[in-house]
Amino acid sequence: MRSPSRLLLGVQWDNFFHFIVFALLFFNPSHSCAADPPEHGTSTDTLILCRACGHEVAFGTDIHFVPSRMALSSRNDTSVGGRRIHIQLFENPQGLKFEVIVFKKADVIKHWPADSHFSWYPGFSWTVATCPRCKTHLGWGFQPNSWPETVTNNKFEESENTFLALIAHRILREDFASSLLMTPKSFTS
Ligand SMILES: [Zn+2]
Repeated sequence: MRSPSRLLLGVQWDNFFHFIVFALLFFNPSHSCAADPPEHGTSTDTLILCRACGHEVAFGTDIHFVPSRMALSSRNDTSVGGRRIHIQLFENPQGLKFEVIVFKKADVIKHWPADSHFSWYPGFSWTVATCPRCKTHLGWGFQPNSWPETVTNNKFEESENTFLALIAHRILREDFASSLLMTPKSFTS
């Protein structure tokens, strides 16, 4: 669990993050601003919505970068989380490419059993994740390979070792949506 390779898979991301902060403070304090943690310490509680129906899927603070060596590429973007976040590009076995943002939690339906084949995160099995309201495919949930293929939603949500990769163009920020639509809240609920 504590080998460097596992750290890089994000299993121990919090520990890894603290290590980075510690290392920066200790070894290179003058450059600490150049390495602001991209996904932590945000002051915003921006809501992230399902683009198709407006369902409140997550908070911006739930964004939690988990790097994968399977990603074809990785870029920074500010349009979804309201701050600099990492978007990774993956390709599935059918050749379809998806840009995803990783969340530590999100209000989505996970469709167990989990599948360990063709996983974008070695060591993790995936489930399809859909919007609870409109059923749109929003992304995938990831859980450790060592787990049973089917687990309860509570087990998934309470674990530190699970995360969700949501398709960037199928979600959006609530404030961005409001600026486009100007629809009264009461109208949409
Ligand atoms: Zn939806």
